[in-house]
Amino acid sequence: MCNANYIKKLVNKIIEKYDVNPFNIVNSLKRIEFNAQPLTKNINGFYKYISLNQQIIVINSELNKAEFIFTLCHELGHYFLEHKNTLLLNSSFTMNLKEEYQADLFATYLYYRYVKSFEDNDLFYYPSRAQELLYKLLNTN
Ligand SMILES: [Zn+2]
Repeated sequence: MCNANYIKKLVNKIIEKYDVNPFNIVNSLKRIEFNAQPLTKNINGFYKYISLNQQIIVINSELNKAEFIFTLCHELGHYFLEHKNTLLLNSSFTMNLKEEYQADLFATYLYYRYVKSFEDNDLFYYPSRAQELLYKLLNTN
């Protein structure tokens, strides 16, 4: 089961083990090849599971800072939630998939923890689909 509470606990554990900064997390994961490149407009990024020892995360380099970081958190969600679909495109066409929803919940909480780690956290904004999920996450025990 992958409810909001489970995802919060998972994110807390990951932050304890690695770091709160999603860039530091992805760089400590040796199995993941991470890079940014220009993608078509409706794709924020993708996660590709090749094998147990090889996964790829690509983020659209055209995104603004907040969207870029949120998307990285989302793709990390696929990794930590052990989604094994060969290719998960982060685009408006796939928003209904259960795995996309779970990755968004994961991303929202990791992003929230990351933003909170800054004193000047007004510099960040929450992508619209994260705002609703954040409310749900913060009102779950
Ligand atoms: Zn996704």
